[in-house]
Amino acid sequence: MAAGVRLVVLGKQGAGKGTQCVRLSHRYAVPHISTGDMLRAAVRSRTELGIIADDLMKSGELLPDELIANMVGERLDEPDAASRGFLLDGYPRTVVQAELLDAILDGQPLNCVINLEVPTDLVLTRLVSRRTCVDCGAIYSTSQPPAQGWVCDNCGGEVVQRPDDTAEAIMTRLQAYERQTFPLIDFYTERGLVETIDGSASPDEVFTATIAAIERRRKGA
Ligand code: ADP
Repeated sequence: MAAGVRLVVLGKQGAGKGTQCVRLSHRYAVPHISTGDMLRAAVRSRTELGIIADDLMKSGELLPDELIANMVGERLDEPDAASRGFLLDGYPRTVVQAELLDAILDGQPLNCVINLEVPTDLVLTRLVSRRTCVDCGAIYSTSQPPAQGWVCDNCGGEVVQRPDDTAEAIMTRLQAYERQTFPLIDFYTERGLVETIDGSASPDEVFTATIAAIERRRKGA
């Protein structure tokens, strides 16, 4: 089995983080930890966290940093992540969250931070046509739907348009990315961790470039 990895994946909404993380998770046998997927599951099961998250998520606003850090900290303590590593998708999203992640990792280094770069006009086109499985989070689009109606190929779940993939919530999320998440590129560049990948290429090409970057890091090149 390939060695594990510890990665943070950054990129605007619609940059392809989810799609690439699913592939990377199989390649390196590490869990894909998506804070958005975890929160959507909490909303569906009406947990205390889900009730707090619901309205903020629908409007495209971020949840409080400490709350998310606790959720991520607990997930990273589970045996799969503790033994093999992780792919963090959607976390950290603010400088405060990155500092909290440092505290959670307690000196364990990241292999690198993958920054999927995609122009805003392309992500807007992708988001409007994006459809998502409510159960496993698999991503489809109106031009690449599941094989059988809107039923997920992986798990049989219902495939829908996310409630925050409306024009208004998309704009709020993209603005939050520019204002709060973009500064993380400098934060991690100063630590020499950023690998920027052209996310506008095809999923296969992006995957190949991402693996090459990770392997370069492993060899210390
Ligand atoms: P996207 O990146 O397309 O906005 P996600 O699935 O990553 O979608 O997140 C959906 C929503 O969940 C966010 O708009 C926000 O409300 C909440 N969320 C997810 N991750 C975080 C986080 N790290 N900090 C705060 N809120 C978060």
